[in-house]
Amino acid sequence: MGNILIVAEIQAGRIRESSFELAAYAQKIAAATGREITSAVLGKDVAGLADGFARKGGGKVFVADDELLANYCVESANAAIRAAVEASGADVILFSNTPSGWDVAPRIAAWLDAAYVSDCTDVAQDGNALVFERRIFNGKLDAKVRAVSDVVVATMQPGGTEPFDGSTEGSVVKLDVSLSSDKAKFIENKVAESTGIDLSKADIIVSGGRGVGAAENFSKLLQPLADALGGAMGASRPVVDAGWLPHEYQVGSSGQIVTPKLYIAAGISGAIQHLVGMKGSNFIIAINKDPDAPIFEVADLGAVGDLAEIVPALTKAVQQAKA
Ligand SMILES: Cc1cc2nc3c(=O)[nH]c(=O)nc-3n(C[C@H](O)[C@H](O)[C@H](O)COP(=O)(O)OP(=O)(O)OC[C@H]3O[C@@H](n4cnc5c(N)ncnc54)[C@H](O)[C@@H]3O)c2cc1C
Repeated sequence: MGNILIVAEIQAGRIRESSFELAAYAQKIAAATGREITSAVLGKDVAGLADGFARKGGGKVFVADDELLANYCVESANAAIRAAVEASGADVILFSNTPSGWDVAPRIAAWLDAAYVSDCTDVAQDGNALVFERRIFNGKLDAKVRAVSDVVVATMQPGGTEPFDGSTEGSVVKLDVSLSSDKAKFIENKVAESTGIDLSKADIIVSGGRGVGAAENFSKLLQPLADALGGAMGASRPVVDAGWLPHEYQVGSSGQIVTPKLYIAAGISGAIQHLVGMKGSNFIIAINKDPDAPIFEVADLGAVGDLAEIVPALTKAVQQAKA
């Protein structure tokens, strides 16, 4: 049996929270199987981050410090992670299910001829094998995937577990790896233009999903409710993907993480990627015509029915109560 390798990610000069979640999964696997935990921290001038991660669940941290790792680029990341896999003797390699994780993890799996399980929300030991859980069909079903090969590479969905919060004794080992940028080169990061919406500061958010049906229904149905409550409007990803609202409105793992006093989710099914962004809200009201929608599992109050009827009625009730 080999070890576990966590491939940590750095964002805005810090180890991403999802890497501490990987540390929590790694602790679980280590406790069940006796594997040792190791990690890879890749970047430029990251010795301090590597040291911190070693003491926060990262175990033996292999650190690759190089200008070519200052910004994610697949060619250099791939080479550095391969070196970390070899140095760690890992047979379980964990990535976050993030854009760089999607990009590089399958390459590592192909190189190792390993099982590849993506977008997982949990992992457990079953007999001699690891069994990964992943949500399918927009969160309506949970699938369990047994890794039957000797080596497994998995990407874990951010928000699937609490980040590891303990302190551990770890160590940092410098990784000697020669990198090149012959095939792919980082050029620049472009930050999208902001429309000034900052949902992270809103006390009340009225969010709409695909069930809202059309762009104009946001201004016709949801904006009046948000205005009546003195709140802001939010959205699920399909709404943004369809171009109904700009990306600043998106709540979820690839949008904003919000913690308002009140979150109203209208026509949102409750996929894990959305829940990750809003489950910390103080009070959640869900409006959905499907009584089995997963959003009701996190809601404090639920209304089953057509949002086109419920939202205007709610708006009217709020306006009357305020008058
Ligand atoms: C890597 C990755 C990152 C992602 N990041 C995000 C993210 O940041 N944020 C995010 O939201 N998603 C994200 N997603 C997408 C996510 O998996 C779901 O697909 C998405 O959240 C579903 O959006 P939805 O609930 O609006 O749509 P659906 O899942 O299609 O749900 C629509 C809901 O509306 C209900 N409905 C339909 N009509 C009505 C009506 N008239 N009245 C009441 N209810 C109605 C339906 O019953 C259904 O429950 C991500 C996915 C991946 C793979």
